[in-house]
Amino acid sequence: MTGAARNAAAKRLSALTDLRGVGPALADKLAKLGVHKAEDLLFVLPNRYEDRTRIRPIGELGIGERAVVEGEVELTEVAYRGRRTMMSRISDGTGSLTLRFFYFSNAQQQGLARGRRVRCYGEVRKSRGGLEMVHPEYRLINESNARLEEHLTPIYPTTEGVQQGRLRALISQVLKQCDASLPDLLPAGLLQDSELPALHAAVRYLHHPPPDASLEQLLAGTHPAQQRLAMEEILAHHLSLRQIRQRAERLQANAMPPIGGLVESFIAKLGFTLTGDQAQTLKIIRQDLGQTHPMMRLLQGDVGCGKTVVAAAAALHAVAAGYQAAIMAPTELLAEQHRDNIQSWFKPLGVEVVWLSGALKAKPRRLAYEAIASGQAQVVVGTHALFQQGLDYKQLGLVIVDEQHRFGVHQRLSLMEKGVSDDLRPHQLVMTATPIPRTLAMTMYADLDVSVIREMPPGRQSIQTVAMPDERRPDVVARVQAACQEGQRAYWVCPLIEESEALDYQDAESTYAMLQEALQGLAVGLIHGRMKNDAKEAIMKDFATGRLQVLVATTVIEVGVDVPEATLMIIENSERMGLAQLHQLRGRVGRGSQKSVCLLLYKTPLSRLATERLNVMRETGDGFVIAQKDLELRGPGEVLGKKQTGLMQMRVADLVRDAGLLPQIQSVAQTLLLEHPEAAAPIMERWIGEAGEYGNV
Ligand code: ADP
Ligand code: MG
Repeated sequence: MTGAARNAAAKRLSALTDLRGVGPALADKLAKLGVHKAEDLLFVLPNRYEDRTRIRPIGELGIGERAVVEGEVELTEVAYRGRRTMMSRISDGTGSLTLRFFYFSNAQQQGLARGRRVRCYGEVRKSRGGLEMVHPEYRLINESNARLEEHLTPIYPTTEGVQQGRLRALISQVLKQCDASLPDLLPAGLLQDSELPALHAAVRYLHHPPPDASLEQLLAGTHPAQQRLAMEEILAHHLSLRQIRQRAERLQANAMPPIGGLVESFIAKLGFTLTGDQAQTLKIIRQDLGQTHPMMRLLQGDVGCGKTVVAAAAALHAVAAGYQAAIMAPTELLAEQHRDNIQSWFKPLGVEVVWLSGALKAKPRRLAYEAIASGQAQVVVGTHALFQQGLDYKQLGLVIVDEQHRFGVHQRLSLMEKGVSDDLRPHQLVMTATPIPRTLAMTMYADLDVSVIREMPPGRQSIQTVAMPDERRPDVVARVQAACQEGQRAYWVCPLIEESEALDYQDAESTYAMLQEALQGLAVGLIHGRMKNDAKEAIMKDFATGRLQVLVATTVIEVGVDVPEATLMIIENSERMGLAQLHQLRGRVGRGSQKSVCLLLYKTPLSRLATERLNVMRETGDGFVIAQKDLELRGPGEVLGKKQTGLMQMRVADLVRDAGLLPQIQSVAQTLLLEHPEAAAPIMERWIGEAGEYGNV
């Protein structure tokens, strides 16, 4: 298709409000489904399908099936079995079925008179007398309305205010308009070797599958038509990241040569030797920092593998070369801990560390700003406040971002634009404790070089992990009492702050009250996300110094916080939390020399998925294994702990389900950029849109 034809087609499908029946109010609601222009409707795919294309003989129906049946009413009666119920028995010659209604009008009762033909759709259930459907959709059939559907009926995800029928009609409308003109943005020939259909065919198929389509495949998301869309969507994100990378390679940065002394004396004073992986990573980072284009490196490594030391050494490399380094963490608590570590390491070396957080009062903030602008501050540690408007660095050479999974791609990229002076970008090191499988990283972090620390520092004790039903809470309390009397400390993590009527979860406030009552002679503290920062900090300090022995917490303690004496981690409602989150929480203990234990309390009965997750936690401490399993075992049950993994939001694709496409996507991207570079922009625009155009940041 030529550029002009493509533009014309795009115009035809542009505004939502051009569609019949769509006003500004509906357009707003559609925006919640991610639909901003007419074409977007085509990428709202059905969650499932119903087969209303054929009438099934009643005699062949199985329990649990959803089906269309048609028969003659034999008898309709109203009975009082606890509640008023209308039952209508229909028969089609192969068998009979009861339609059961708890809500019905007189007109309905009269309509279902003996001898009438009725067609209904519903789920087949077993009843005392045989088969039944409860509140089926039904219609009385005459000559004029006997036609069946020609294709499978799509069931779309709905949002408040956009009903199924509405959505279905709108999508049909767009499908009709774009008939044969939905532009295939992938250059012809690029998909030749794959079995994937053309875009237009794929879209049509998914909205209106033929009666013989494989529902099983469609439900699993593995149908070639679905894969075609997923493929293009992932490709769009991948292209966008590659584009960022290409741009970054053309950008200039200050080359920071290794100036001897500072890094070496830091390492010499640490009191331990770097692991092989730490040393290797540091070497590569120092090479990157010597280049004239900005480093963009992701450092992956499990909780406790020692990323902070590597980051600190990198910061000193920058300082030695005469530049400033900024170290940013996602939460106050974590940033404070970095500050304390970095300060204790850097003070003896004579390096000036400045603290900057959003909570800082006007005066200390002004002093910090001045120190940063004058260059007196050599290393700045803090939260997002490090990149506030109006804050100027004298000569920022390196930005280090910890726990990058907490920041979206956008935030990550916008950092690149901060601290720009004379068109020189700072080098960037982002760190994450969320390990991701390799092909995934290559596709979805295509803008970054990736380093991995797999090796743990020597002498780490493995953490014993036990899962138990929460009815055994009293035993756990006794165990905490005994351990803490011997000088150990315990975390007790709850998913909610206060009691909730809607959710049957253990909450922090009542657990706190319970433990204060039950634990004799021990000091119990409470920390949660709604507390003020200084209150949180005070509590955390009390726990770190041992004034408190037991800390009841919500998941705010999830990242980073380091208390070597804490040896017991108790997690309530562990069945509701994701593996990555459990792993992070567990990583809060096992940081000292004593044996640590993690107790996963759960509410019975456990679902199969939850059982499997808890088994993974008991069986392995390897973050990479857990990451892989976490991706595989994500389930609808996981309402808590659902959190940014740093991977982007997809409309159609599922990075785990579609992982098999990743190698192909990389090679398609390669060819496309070499041979059809002009094709990239429209693909990105279709899937990511203008708001999401990462490259513009
Ligand atoms: P994370 O990768 O989770 O950020 P940290 O950098 O906080 O890990 O390191 C965890 C602990 O391990 C810290 O107390 C740190 O001082 C210590 N540590 C780091 N590297 C080593 C090493 N090579 N040998 C012994 N201890 C180390
Ligand atoms: Mg860390």
